[in-house]
Parts: sequence; structure tokens; C-alpha cells
Amino acid sequence: MAQSHPVHGRIDGPIVIIGFGSIGKGTLPLIQRHFEFDAARLTVIDPNPDTHLFLAQHEVRHLQLAITRENYRAVLGELFAEGRGFCVNLSVDTSSLDLMRLCRELGVLYIDTVVEPWAGYYFDTADNAARTNYALRQKVRDEKAAHPGGPTAVSCCGANPGMVSWFVKEALLTLARDTGRAVTPPERREDWAALMQGLGVKGVHVAERDTQARRLPRPRGTFVNTWSVEGFIAEGFQPAELGWGTHETWFPENGHRHDTGCRAGIWLERPGAITRVHTWCPTPGPQFGFLVTHNEAISISDYYTVGDPAAPAFRPTCHYAYHPCDDAVLSLHEMFGSGRQQTSHEILDVDEIVEGIDELGVLLFGHERNALWYGSRLSNAEARKLAPYQNATGLQVTSAVLAGMVWALENPRAGIVETDEMDHARCLQVQRPYLGPIEAHYSDWTPLQDRWEHFPEDIDESDPWLFRNVLAT
Ligand code: NAD
Repeated sequence: MAQSHPVHGRIDGPIVIIGFGSIGKGTLPLIQRHFEFDAARLTVIDPNPDTHLFLAQHEVRHLQLAITRENYRAVLGELFAEGRGFCVNLSVDTSSLDLMRLCRELGVLYIDTVVEPWAGYYFDTADNAARTNYALRQKVRDEKAAHPGGPTAVSCCGANPGMVSWFVKEALLTLARDTGRAVTPPERREDWAALMQGLGVKGVHVAERDTQARRLPRPRGTFVNTWSVEGFIAEGFQPAELGWGTHETWFPENGHRHDTGCRAGIWLERPGAITRVHTWCPTPGPQFGFLVTHNEAISISDYYTVGDPAAPAFRPTCHYAYHPCDDAVLSLHEMFGSGRQQTSHEILDVDEIVEGIDELGVLLFGHERNALWYGSRLSNAEARKLAPYQNATGLQVTSAVLAGMVWALENPRAGIVETDEMDHARCLQVQRPYLGPIEAHYSDWTPLQDRWEHFPEDIDESDPWLFRNVLAT
């Protein structure tokens, strides 16, 4: 029996999807399911010739080219000439900021899943501070401040960054309820920040364990992942970064602050994908994660700041603690060990994965219940039943893109927004059918546990949740 899916809105004018990799390919069927639009006006732009056959079979127009600094105005200007429509940017190597600006000029709605720079930026920029997500994000925040309002441009609306910001709010409401507090969801940023502060939350790990695996062992010399290999390598080589909370009493020797902008984050003089942290997820319990830089580490710390950003009364520490699929861990080991990037890349396909889930949530720590993990535990088997062409990781991302698009249609003049600033309940309402089990788990784990007694470490037991204890030496 054919399933029926709710139609969430109508998109007038052209829809342009830029980038048709693992995320673009998974987003297309969700757009087709959940929006009314003129199918003849949907265009996919991607330079990869392999996408052509698939798109032709599905009667979707394909422009086989790369969007570049030189051509983006001409290409998008022509496609959006009538001054309406939706630009869905799911590509690597295209400047989110320039595309956002152009969409505002053209009167077009916009969404992306990462603040991406033009090709070459990540590896050709010598200054590590300039290569941080802090720097990339701050330019978008400055653009928002300079041009408030206008057509909605949703910045960084994937799973993380994206959905996890909605989970932080659900987790706060859950914690408030479970500790006997009245729970009216706040409406203003200041009140959310006060709620987090009042609950005694010291920080947030975006704590992820991906256990998806295929039957065949990883071929040596091939980087295997469950989403963009190119994107993961680029962010893995950026400096490790985190939102820096007010409870921290120690400062890493290789750490740097920023003296302009929101001041919420710091960065370390070391690539994120070889910087390990102690963290916790429901399936493995305690585990190592990689401190890979992510936009949400800064945006969440910024959003929940109380008081003067330069000398806050409260700010949570926040960072990613990512255990990618086992094949990706081996791929990183090989890449950093050899000093060479693999030229062969593979993204695990939904149909070759034989087991595993992507367990992606937020671990709120330091409060009276110690630690609360709140997130999605979507299996690949369930993802396969829910929507075509994507594994569990992909569906967590594409369903967030869907939710962000719905929110943009319902709030078309909001200007540039981050997911922290959107109505989290509405977004999760749209996204929830695609997330598998969404669960809250309390834990008595702290980073002081599971140490090796024969090798004393330089830790500070006065507060288990100091970053000094979380960072693995
Ligand atoms: P992918 O590597 O599978 O695909 C990227 C696609 O972009 C490819 O098909 C490539 O041909 C195309 N492309 C490259 N340069 C282009 C250009 N200049 N113009 C147009 N197309 C171009 O990547 P993916 O897994 O689909 O991820 C896409 C983006 O989404 C990446 O930026 C990634 O970092 C981001 N992402 C975000 C999240 C999140 O949770 N926020 C999660 C996964 C991926």
C-alpha cells in the first residue's frame, strides 16, 4: 500500500539544489514528498557526471557544472530571475556567505547545512585562526547584524550543526521537568540561557557514536565514511575548537581565544580529528570521541551566554565528541599516520550496510542529575524503511533540511537565522518521523571514571566536568 506523507507547504518559483552527493540525493525525495511545487522548475547543480543518469531517470533537470566564485551570480541569477523560489545548498566548496547574500538580493529563500567557504580555503589558508569555524561563522553573524530581516536564510541546518540545537532545548525542558521545575518553554534567547544556567548545566557534548558497518573490510588506502569524505577530511584538518564555558578554571597550553566577535569559543593548535575527548553515549557508555570543530560548538555556547559576551556571568562549554563509524576511525588513523590524504573515497551505501545505528545526541552535564543524553538512535535498517537513497546518518541530516525548509516557508522574512534561533518544537515536529527512537538517558558517568590507574594523569578532581579532565592526553 502506498504511504501518504503530509504536505507541509507550497514552494512558488524555482527550486535549485546545489550539490547532489549523499545529502543532496537523500534530500530530493523528501522535498518531493512534503512540498507542492512545479516539478519542471526543480534543478540540481552538480559537476559530477555520475549524477546525470540518476537525475535523468527521475526526470529532474541537471546542470552539470561546479558553482564557483566566478559563475555563481550568472548561474543563479538566471535560474532565479523572477525573484522567488528556494536555493538548497548541499554542496562542498561553495561559499555559504556569498550564496546567502545573493539569495537575499534576488529575493530567494536559502538553506545550507554548514558555513562552507569557496574551494581551496581549508587547505590554502595559512593562518589557523582564519581557518576556524569561529571565523567562518562570525562572518555570517556580522552579515546578519548588518542586514537584519529580508528573505529567510537558514544557516547550518543539518543534523549537527542543526537538529542538535533543537535537542538541547528538548533536553533542557526534560531536565527541568525531571527536577521538579515548572516548564513553560521560553520564547526569548535570554530566557533559554537563564533556564540552562538555572538548571546548573555546565556544558554540552554533541555526543555521537556511529556503529554502521558493511560486511567487507575497509580496503587499505581508501577513506570510508557514512557521509561526505571530502567534508570530513576538511573539518578534521581544521583546528580543534570548542565553546568555552564559565566553569573552566584551566586553559590549554595550545589554546587561543578570539578578541573580536561573539567571544564564545577557543581553538587549539592541533587538528580536531586527532584530538580525543572522553565522552558518553547510550550504546557504548564511556568512549573516546574526536574534538572535530563544528559550528554548533560555537553557536550553542554563544546562544546560552548570560551577560556581557566579553565577561559573561554564564556560558556553557560546548563541543563535538564524535566517534564516526569504525571504518572512518581506521581511515583517519591511516591518513594522519601516513601524512597523506587517501585519494580513493567511499560513502557507505544504505544497501551495503549490514548493521549499526547513528546515535547522535546532546550530553548535558554538570547539573544535579549529573549527565543527560538526549538524541536520536536511528538504525540503518529503519532509515531504509523510512526514505530512499540514504543511510541513518544521511536521514538525520536530510530530515533536518526538510524541517528547516518548512520553517523558512512559514517564516519567510526572518533574514539569516541559525537553528538555535528557530522554533525547535515545530522543527522537531516535522523531523521526528524520520529520526527513529528519540530517547533521554541519565548517566552517573563522569570524565574522572575509566582512568588507567597505573598511569596517573594531570587532572583536577575538584570538578569532574572541567575540560582539563575531558581532554584525553
Ligand atoms: P558529498 O561529498 O557526498 O557530495 C558533495 C557533492 O557536491 C558532490 O556530488 C560534488 O560533486 C558536489 N560539488 C562539489 N563541488 C561543487 C560545486 N562547486 N558546485 C556544485 N556541486 C559541487 O557530500 P555530502 O555528504 O552530500 O555533504 C554535503 C554537504 O553537507 C557538505 O558540505 C557537508 O559538510 C554537509 N553536511 C552537513 C551535515 C550536518 O549535519 N550539518 C552532515 C553531513 C554533511
